[in-house]
Parts: sequence; C-alpha cells; structure tokens
Amino acid sequence: MSKSLQAIRGMNDILPEQTPLWRYFEGTVARLLDNYGYKQIRMPIVEFTELFKRSIGEVTDIVEKEMYTFEDRNGDSLTLRPEGTAACVRAVLEHGITGGGQVQKLWYIGPMFRHERPQKGRYRQFHQIGLEVFNLDGPDIDAELIIMTWRLWGELGIRDAVKLELNSLGTSESRGHYREALVEYLSAHHDKLDEDSQRRLKTNPLRVLDTKNADTQAVLVDAPKMADYLDDESRAHFEGLKARLDAVGIPYVLNPKLVRGLDYYSKTVFEWVTDKLGAQGTVCAGGRYDGLVEQMGGKPTAGVGFAMGIERLVLMLETLEQIPEEISRQVDVYLCAFGEEAELAGLALAERVRDQLPNLRLQVNAGAGSFKSQFKKADKSGALYALILGDDEMAQQVVGFKPLRGQGEQQSIAWDALAAHLATCVVQG
Ligand code: ATP
Ligand code: MG
Repeated sequence: MSKSLQAIRGMNDILPEQTPLWRYFEGTVARLLDNYGYKQIRMPIVEFTELFKRSIGEVTDIVEKEMYTFEDRNGDSLTLRPEGTAACVRAVLEHGITGGGQVQKLWYIGPMFRHERPQKGRYRQFHQIGLEVFNLDGPDIDAELIIMTWRLWGELGIRDAVKLELNSLGTSESRGHYREALVEYLSAHHDKLDEDSQRRLKTNPLRVLDTKNADTQAVLVDAPKMADYLDDESRAHFEGLKARLDAVGIPYVLNPKLVRGLDYYSKTVFEWVTDKLGAQGTVCAGGRYDGLVEQMGGKPTAGVGFAMGIERLVLMLETLEQIPEEISRQVDVYLCAFGEEAELAGLALAERVRDQLPNLRLQVNAGAGSFKSQFKKADKSGALYALILGDDEMAQQVVGFKPLRGQGEQQSIAWDALAAHLATCVVQG
C-alpha cells in the first residue's frame, strides 16, 4: 500500500471551521491600517538568498539555521522568505518609491517560512501581518505604531492579556560603545557562559543578552546596561517615545535585555508579550532600523516597523474566548425547494433577492432531497430562517418563511415582497 500523503511538518492547513476567525482577525487589522493611512504592498514569497543574508545578518538564528534555501533550475540560490522587512526594503528601493525623502507607510500580510522546531505557536510556515514606515525618523511615528497595535488589542478584546516591553538600542555609534563594554565584561566571565553565548560573544555579542541559560543570565545581572551608553540623540528619541505613550495612557515595561533577533535594529525596539500562550509569548515585535536601507545599497533612509504573528493572535482569541458571535454564523437564510418546478422558481427568486440585498448570506439547497432532509440541512447550516417552496407556495406565488432559531410561526410572503421582508429581519454584515 502506498504511504498516505501528508502536509510537511510545521506547515498547517487552515480548515474551513478556522477560516472565519482568521478572516475576522485579518479584516479587523486591515480596516485599522486603512484608517491610519497605511497602504498595502505585496511582495513575492521567494527572493534571492543573498537578500536575507545581507539584511537580516549572517550570524542570526534565521540565516544560520532557519532558512528554506534551494537552488532553482538556473542555479540561483533562492530562499522562501523568513520575514517581510528585507523584501519590503528591496521593493521600495527597486521601484524608487522612497527616493527624495518620500514617506511610505506600508503593510503586508502573508506566509513566512522558518525551519524551527514545531510546537504550539511556532510553526515552519506561519503568517505575519507586518508594517514598515520609511523616511520618518522621529519618535512620533514609533509611538503611532504602538498606539495602533494598542487600539487593535482593544478592538479584539485582548488588551488586558498583553504587555508592552520597550528598550532602546541607541544609534549605531552608541551601540558600538556599548558592545565594546559588554564584550569586555563578558570576556572576563567567559568560562561561566554557556556554549552558545561563548560563540555569540564573538559573532553577535548583544544576542547574549537574550539567552535562556540560567548561568549566563546570572552573569548578566552585573553586566553594563545599554541605558548608560545611550548618546543624547538616542536618549531624546527614547524619552520622546515614552512621553507619547504616557500621553495616550499606554502602559509599558522597560526591558534592558530586549535586543530582538535580527541584526538591523537601532534605537526603539519593542515586543507585545502575553503569558496566555505558554513559551511562545511574543505576539508582535518590531523596532527602528535606520541603517538598513543604506546597508542594502540605498541612500540613508529612516525605517521603523513591526510584525505580528497571526497564528499566535488567533490562538489568543480562542484561548480568551474573544470570538464574536456573528462570525460563527455564515448563513442567514436557507432556501428549500421541493420538486423541479419549485427548484427553478427558487433559483430565479434567490437571484432576485441577491440583486436587492447583496450582503445577504443566502444559501440555496443543492442536491434536492425530502422535506425532512432539506430541513435538517437548513438547520445545520446555522441559518436564522428557512424559505420554503413547495406545491402550495408555487400555486399562490408565495414563499414559506420559517424562523429556525427561537420564536415565531411560519408565514407566507409574496415573492415580490420577500427582499423587503428579509431586509427587516436579517442584520446584514
Ligand atoms: P520568537 O522569539 O518567538 O522566535 P522572533 O523574534 O523570531 O520570535 P520575529 O522575527 O520578530 O520573531 O517575528 C514577529 C512575530 O512573528 C513574532 O513575534 C511571532 O508572533 C511571529 N513568529 C515568529 N516566528 C514564528 C513561528 N515560527 N511560528 C509562528 N509565529 C512566529
Ligand atoms: Mg525566532
């Protein structure tokens, strides 16, 4: 017997019973981003491998061990995108849409790929909504990104379950000074560091700060603090951000160990974290990357952005039972017809109703069936009302209108009056 076909581990189907919640989430975010003046951009899912090496950095977890890289038929090395910022920067440079200081406020949505160990909230194909702003260098825009996500948590009903962690990595100069001090301190304690941290000390020392190893964490307690190395510019930027968050009343926790996984951040970094999802607690993360565009061959261009993990946020909505009632019902009205003549009349009637009520979710029974079986399907569909067309109704040019949930007797409605009647009893989404 042949082996049954399976999806790749860590790459999930999103089944029909799950998609309403995904669409609700995605729709809520999209509407919010529209309202704040952000425009959607769509990039390819595959890019040259070089793009990610150059932007994310050679000595990051992503580039070292998480990328899906392959050679295509031309012999080019390609990679399934592990995140969106690199491709977004490539796209704005390629199309010249950030030239001359042009401001761009962009967002994107789609699958990302990382070869990680699959577990709850961590997958190999996962989905992000990401956002990037170019050519605005002040703390006001950093604040706007955070304020916008704060509003999103409010609309989704999960605001009490997330916490904002904030740090500043400073300008590249101040980070350089800090890195020196940190390397000097950690080198003096080299033997007490775990193996991974010893390696990072040479390649990417700031990453030692977010180690999970308890011994290394103990060494870090007395390590130099980034906050003491911020230059005036970085400090003013960070204060400006905090003042704006205070003005709107958004609580935050300063986390000096927050460094983020990617190489390209400067000044502001932040994460929204939750304790509701176990180990995979970060639902949205981002920061400023003023050096990245230049590093990728463009003119010096300020940049700031974030990405949120859709799987983790959908899981949160489920865990906290913040699933709006209306999304679980996908049918308003179910039309049952008995006999061929009624079926034909029913089809025409359904199209007339749809012309007049384009948002009505009207399902017409397919596959014929007895009165009992059609009624069962109507009920199972979740519809609020059944429409019935049988011999009697055909003779009188009416349709039987039967409430399926709660009170009310069946009534007869004239075909011509049906749309108007439905408009009064179904709230259309
Ligand atoms: P983590 O520390 O959890 O590995 P990260 O720092 O690697 O996250 P980012 O690159 O900042 O993650 O991606 C932004 C967001 O995308 C994360 O906060 C998370 O919500 C989501 N995310 C990242 N990797 C995965 C994954 N493998 N599966 C599901 N969601 C993910
Ligand atoms: Mg990661």
